[in-house]
Amino acid sequence: QAKAHGRNNFWFFTEDLNLRLNERVHLEHSLRQALDGHQFTLLYQPQIDLNSGEIIGAEALLRWHHPELGLIEPDRFVPIAEDTGLIIGIGDWVMKEATRRNRRWQLDGLPPLVVAVNLSARQFAEADLVHRIETALNEADLDPRYLCLEITESHVMQEAEQAVQTLHQLKALGVMLSIDDFGTGYSSLSYLKKFPVDELKIDRSFVRDLHIDVDDAVIAEAIISLGHSLNIRVIAEGIEHEEQLDFLIRQGCDHGQGFFLGEPVSAEALEALIRQPRTAWRLVE
Ligand code: C2E
Ligand code: MG
Ligand code: MG
Ligand code: MG
Repeated sequence: QAKAHGRNNFWFFTEDLNLRLNERVHLEHSLRQALDGHQFTLLYQPQIDLNSGEIIGAEALLRWHHPELGLIEPDRFVPIAEDTGLIIGIGDWVMKEATRRNRRWQLDGLPPLVVAVNLSARQFAEADLVHRIETALNEADLDPRYLCLEITESHVMQEAEQAVQTLHQLKALGVMLSIDDFGTGYSSLSYLKKFPVDELKIDRSFVRDLHIDVDDAVIAEAIISLGHSLNIRVIAEGIEHEEQLDFLIRQGCDHGQGFFLGEPVSAEALEALIRQPRTAWRLVE
């Protein structure tokens, strides 16, 4: 009896595991067709200058419209794209689309924006990364300073010596470099000095409770003064409430991004937002 039960439990366990494996195999299979099937789009989340309240840029965020499953968030498919190497082709598409779109906005008379594109570890380690980015910029005819590459701290630190070299090559192209999710990795401060980066992005886990949790407030403050003493701009992500925004402004944080300032929206909607006559965010009383 007990044995039968045990077997049953085991059976249920493998059933569950099978379902999850199947989902992964299924996603992986359909991910292979997603590029050719034009199933990807980019949303753009505004980035705000906390001094002027103006939109000075946007982060490009990838979305996958699966033919049966509907909209799939990057946290669910980017890891699969990484493991399979599909991220290289997908990343090329993101780079081309974002640079093309940004150039289009300039030609259509919008004030110049910096569009930020996320790079994953696999892309960052790719030998011809610099060449791929240069090609996208040339094809789009975009001045490199209007492209910002977001790289997470842990990706950079994996092969720190190699990473310093890659970052210098990217910097030589003239693009902006940002360290994403800053504070969550095992960053070495001595390396930070060697990285030719333009921006630190305070991870949203520190921003979330910043107005109620003293530890998070202290960490955010420390990142802002660290950035500024190294001459690096600081942006905070995940700003959802006015209290968080007020705190960051008081601490002298340069830029901000989050649902309170603007959700990720289509390229058309971002353009409309920028064109719409309005007074800049009333950031400081
Ligand atoms: P990330 O680079 O840290 O991007 C910020 C994420 O936070 C986005 O999620 C964004 O929608 C979300 N977010 C923005 N404001 C708020 C807020 O106020 N509150 C909360 N709770 N969340 C906020 P998303 O679009 O689901 O992207 C998740 C991650 O997927 C990104 O994290 C990035 O690491 C990765 N990713 C997105 N697009 C791409 C891409 O084109 N290529 C690669 N390699 N990775 C990408
Ligand atoms: Mg990012
Ligand atoms: Mg981030
Ligand atoms: Mg983050």
